[in-house]
Amino acid sequence: MLLLRSGIVLAALLTSAALAQPVGTTASDPARAAAPARMIDLQGHRGARGLWPENTLEGFARTLDLGVSTLELDVVPTRDGVLVVHHDRTLNPDITRDAAGRYLEPPAPAVFSLSLAEVQALDVGRIRAGTRYARSFASQQPIDGARIPRLRDLFRLVRERGDTRVRFAIETKLSPLNPAESPEPEVFARMLMDEITAAGLLDRVQILSFDWRTLQAVQRSHPGVPTVYITAQFDSLDTVGARSGRDSPWVAGFTHARHGSIPRMIRAAGGSHWSSFWRELTPELVREAQSLGLKVLAWTVNEPEAMARLLDMGVDGLVTDRPDLAIGLLRERGIRW
Ligand code: MG
Repeated sequence: MLLLRSGIVLAALLTSAALAQPVGTTASDPARAAAPARMIDLQGHRGARGLWPENTLEGFARTLDLGVSTLELDVVPTRDGVLVVHHDRTLNPDITRDAAGRYLEPPAPAVFSLSLAEVQALDVGRIRAGTRYARSFASQQPIDGARIPRLRDLFRLVRERGDTRVRFAIETKLSPLNPAESPEPEVFARMLMDEITAAGLLDRVQILSFDWRTLQAVQRSHPGVPTVYITAQFDSLDTVGARSGRDSPWVAGFTHARHGSIPRMIRAAGGSHWSSFWRELTPELVREAQSLGLKVLAWTVNEPEAMARLLDMGVDGLVTDRPDLAIGLLRERGIRW
């Protein structure tokens, strides 16, 4: 009886609410919606590697036209101390041609062993046909003549476009296993932060790395700058050490054995974000990380079905080679970025 009466009262309330609604509006009117639209960080990976040559000014400019919230990019220093935007510590023979137009043959030299002039003589605008890379990114449009840019050239490009919104997720590329191919982590971090400071962009960057030593250095020198702790647990590269049970050299001493989970490792390290290989995320891990105050990013996810699953898990951002596909999905779901 009580239930029935409550039902009648509820129905009456709903009816009067509907009647009270001004003409021309509906309950789903955005202006009347109680909850603000969800917002995520849409990061274009190496610009938008699925569409244009990775880590090039030409690719970044087109990615900005597409409209991501963040450009993800990688940096390595040259021998003469200039930070350039490049994914690998060594040049990549799959995408790199010399001044005569010949693709490099492996083993390619480390960027850190070359001068800026030597690096900028190279063309990285077209994937070598027949490679696995070419098969993986068959939709990439070549841009012959594209060079490896300096970090400051990217900053200038964004400034000259009058873009005051896009953010930069800048990854330090170094490895504790190959110390000769990079400066010391402290030195690397200082070079990067000096360059960002000079460009006046401290409030628009996050710094990321698999090698957590540079992130620790950034936190010491610039405590307000977000730091993104990246992980991968592959057979070929397990940066966490959870599966092997062995302490990993990548995690700056914040071992899985001591802390028990990746979110707790990152929390102990003082990070603001966790960027996980997307297949390794679960709803439980996302919840655990967020309950510890971390934001969760998923890299590098290129299939809309997988993007949708990750959005359902509640991730805070997607890192993708195909921001065009992500934008379609986000629009469908009414999610902003
Ligand atoms: Mg990267």
